[in-house]
Amino acid sequence: MDLNFSADEERFRQRVQKFLRENLPPGWGQGGGRPAGMSQIDFLKDWQRRLYENGFLGMAWPKEYGGQGASQVEMAIFNEEMARFRAPSPLNILGLSMAGPTIITHGTEEQKKRYLPKILSCEEIWCQGFSEPNAGSDLASLKTRAELKGDEFIINGQKVWTTFGHIADMCMLLVRTDPDAPKHRGLSYLLVEMRTPGITVKPLRQMTGEAEFNEIFFDDVHVPRANLLGPLNEGWRVATTTLMNERGTTALATVMRYRIVFDEIVELARSTQRNGLPATSDPIIRQQLAQFYVDLEMMRFTAYRTFSKILKGGDPGPEGSISKIAWSELNQRMMEFVMALEGPASQLVRGSPYAVEGGRWQHHFLRSRANTIEAGTSEIQRNIIAERVLGLPKSR
Ligand SMILES: Cc1cc2nc3c(=O)[nH]c(=O)nc-3n(C[C@H](O)[C@H](O)[C@H](O)COP(=O)(O)OP(=O)(O)OC[C@H]3O[C@@H](n4cnc5c(N)ncnc54)[C@H](O)[C@@H]3O)c2cc1C
Repeated sequence: MDLNFSADEERFRQRVQKFLRENLPPGWGQGGGRPAGMSQIDFLKDWQRRLYENGFLGMAWPKEYGGQGASQVEMAIFNEEMARFRAPSPLNILGLSMAGPTIITHGTEEQKKRYLPKILSCEEIWCQGFSEPNAGSDLASLKTRAELKGDEFIINGQKVWTTFGHIADMCMLLVRTDPDAPKHRGLSYLLVEMRTPGITVKPLRQMTGEAEFNEIFFDDVHVPRANLLGPLNEGWRVATTTLMNERGTTALATVMRYRIVFDEIVELARSTQRNGLPATSDPIIRQQLAQFYVDLEMMRFTAYRTFSKILKGGDPGPEGSISKIAWSELNQRMMEFVMALEGPASQLVRGSPYAVEGGRWQHHFLRSRANTIEAGTSEIQRNIIAERVLGLPKSR
C-alpha cells in the first residue's frame, strides 16, 4: 500500500492550508474565538458558507447537485487539514455527513435536486430522528407510527436525544409504517420539515451545562408521500446507510484531531509539577503517555485500512465500528488521565479564576462520557464487529 500523496494532492493540501490561514478568525486555535458580537450559530453558518463557496464542501458529491466531484483522497486531505487547524466543523454536519450521503444513495432525482444543494449551502440544517425512549441500541423496535392515508403520512410518537433538533429545518425520521411486519421490515425513512404543525421540540440539558440535544414530539403530523426516502417499509436498509456514514467516513480526520489533543496533554504534563519535577519525569506518567501514542498509531493504520476500502469503490462498512470504539474509548482514557494529572485542581471548572487552562479540560472530560454512547454504544459496536466483520454466530 502506497501511503504517499501525489504532487496534485499535495498542491490541494496547500490550497486548503492557505484558505484556513486566511479565513479563520485571528488567533483561532491559540485562544482566539469567533468575532465579537456574532452568535455561535451565525458564526458557524457563515463559516459553512465560506467553505462551500471555496469548493470545500460536498467534495465527493456529484457536481449536478452542487458537489465538487472531487476524489475521496482530496476529501480526506481537507478533513485532515481542518482537524490540524482545529477549524470548527460546518454547522450542518449531520446534513453533510449523514443526510446527504443517504439521499445520494437512495433518493430520487427530484429529492437529490431538492435537498442536496441546501445541505451544502446551510440553508437547511438537518437532525437525525432515530432514537426513542425505548429504542436506542435496539433501534428497530421503535414505535413512532406513520400511517399512509392517501398521499400523506400521519405521524404520531416521540423521538429523543435529537442533536440540533432545536435549530434544525429538516429531520431524517425513521418511523413504523407496518406494525404487523417483523420489526426490521415495517420501517420507513421520511424527510420531514421541522416546522410542520404538530411537531414540538423540547431541549435536554447535559451535564456539561449545554443543551445540544432534544426530545421531539409528533402529534398528527402530516407529511407528503413524496418525502419517503427509498421504498415503503424498507427504511431499515436506508437507515443503515446513514449509520455507516455516521461511524466510518471521517476516521482519518479523527486521528488528526486526537493527535492534537495528545500533543496538548504532553505539554500539560510537562508544565505540571510532581514532587518538584515535571510530571513527564514520572515513569508511570511516561508509560501512560506512550500507551496513548501507541493507541493513536493503531487508529491511524485502521483508518487507512477503512479508507483504502472506500477508495476501491466500497461503501463505509461495519469496519467503521472499530474506529468508533478506538477513538471514543481512547478519548475517555485521555480525559481521565488529565483529571488525575491535575489532581485537586481537577475540581475547578469554567468560571473559576484558578481553573487550569480556564477549565477547558473539565468540560472535555464531562463531554467525553457521551462518546461511548452517541452513534451507537461500545457494546453495540462490539456486537457489530463480532457478527458482521468477524462473522461470529449471533447470540440467542
Ligand atoms: C451526545 C449524544 C447525541 C446523540 N444524538 C442523537 C441524534 O442526533 N439522533 C438520534 O436518533 N440519537 C442520538 N443519540 C442517541 C444514541 O444513539 C443512543 O443513546 C444510543 O444508541 C444508545 O441507546 P440508549 O440511550 O437507548 O441506551 P440503551 O439501548 O437502553 O442501552 C443501555 C445500555 O445497555 C447496553 N446494551 C443494549 N443492548 C445491548 C446488547 N444487545 N448487547 C450488549 N449491551 C447492550 C448498551 O450498550 C448500554 O450500555 C445521541 C446520544 C448521545 C449521548
